[in-house]
Amino acid sequence: MGAVNCPVCVKCAVAFQRQRCGIAAELMAADLSYQLYLADLWECPSCHLEIVAGFGVMPIAEHFHKDYERERKKQSEKLLIRFWGSVNDKDNGLRLMKEEAICPL
Ligand SMILES: [Zn+2]
Repeated sequence: MGAVNCPVCVKCAVAFQRQRCGIAAELMAADLSYQLYLADLWECPSCHLEIVAGFGVMPIAEHFHKDYERERKKQSEKLLIRFWGSVNDKDNGLRLMKEEAICPL
């Protein structure tokens, strides 16, 4: 792959190197798993910063699919990275998850 198709580390001015293809990335909506994507894990060869990029155009599974939980478990046997769309959503999600841990239904 040519360097122009790779993410570039701004700090190091070097193209990232792909470490793994097809890892599962779980998009969260607050404290709920919302969609699963396949993406690639990249690492800067200089500072070793890791990023996830190269997402598929469509999610491989969505929360309203009947077999979503099964697919999620299957993907979690590989590398599963959980992420939120914004810092606020992440903070809110983690707060709710903590409250759920304290007060289970
Ligand atoms: Zn770097």
